[in-house]
Amino acid sequence: MTHADAAAALSVWVALESPTSHPAGVNGMMDLVAKEVAGLPIAVERIAGRDGLGDMVMLRAGLDNGQPAVAVMSHLDTVHPVGTSSKDLPVRIEGDRLYGPGVYDMKGGAWLALQAFKDVARAGSAKRPMMFLFTPDEEIGSPTSRGLIEEIGRGSAAVLVTEPARQGGRIVTARKGVGRFEVRLEGRPAHSGSRHADGRSAIREAAHQILAIEAMTDYARGITTSVALIGGGTAANVIPQHAWFSVDCRVTTLADGAMMEQRILGLKAHDPEVTIRITGGMNRPPYEKSAAVAELFETARDVAAGIGLDLQDCPMTGGGSDGNFTAALGVPTLDGLGIDGDGAHTLQEYALISSIAPRRALMKGLLETI
Ligand SMILES: [Zn+2]
Repeated sequence: MTHADAAAALSVWVALESPTSHPAGVNGMMDLVAKEVAGLPIAVERIAGRDGLGDMVMLRAGLDNGQPAVAVMSHLDTVHPVGTSSKDLPVRIEGDRLYGPGVYDMKGGAWLALQAFKDVARAGSAKRPMMFLFTPDEEIGSPTSRGLIEEIGRGSAAVLVTEPARQGGRIVTARKGVGRFEVRLEGRPAHSGSRHADGRSAIREAAHQILAIEAMTDYARGITTSVALIGGGTAANVIPQHAWFSVDCRVTTLADGAMMEQRILGLKAHDPEVTIRITGGMNRPPYEKSAAVAELFETARDVAAGIGLDLQDCPMTGGGSDGNFTAALGVPTLDGLGIDGDGAHTLQEYALISSIAPRRALMKGLLETI
């Protein structure tokens, strides 16, 4: 397959818009996957979506020898709303760059890994069962796919995740854990002119809480907290009865995750006449570079060397992925095996076309070696 053919085939995937909240688009992506493998020695299982989200597709191939599988995992949802490609981020090629919604995170990786999976299935060159799970909801924390991801992980010798490569093609062997919290405050409304003293402002209370939460950031320890969504109030001349905000929290260890959960859920109102209700917790546990992960990385380095690549990994990254779930179960997991490029979640998102062939070869080598 030439670079141009690969770019053209991937462009079809990118042009089909599939934000998490648009199950018709996500299901269209699942259709494309099923169509790709039709007629090959690959079994296709489709799992209907729920809670307003898209379907999942699971592929099975390889050697049926009772060994634990090697599992590939890709999400086909993106963060870009429908209409992005017709306006702000058209699917287009500029030199070595293929631009488009989700091309880097992660349709490029999903596509190239599927080509490798097909290559190995066709050649019959796997040493064990192979599985490939395509999911519809990674970008919102995988609420409907987590169970299956973990189930597959438990039955696997290794999990390979096709999130984007890092600068220069580095792969990912450790990720921070991610927590999400919702804070709702209720005070007492009053006219801000005639009855100011009677009011108990939910927004003022939120301000105290936000500063307290943001102050929990400890860079030296790898803990960050941020409040990036907020709302409240009804009019400029009413002391606000309601306010809400959400908190994003990142940690490097399970123990720190438990500690932060306790600190955030345990926050008390500064003004006793305002009630505060906090829900949520740690969603993705940290993915630490264990000895088993390091060993799998060394295997990947050998495979890469065989195709002329000097494979490197990057220091623990702040972004979570489905790899966090399987790594936390102790399953050797490699991530960042997807396409190289930049601009994830932005309107400058692109993939490097020249990275498709070597990373497809790397995935193929991993599926044949593990
Ligand atoms: Zn992603």
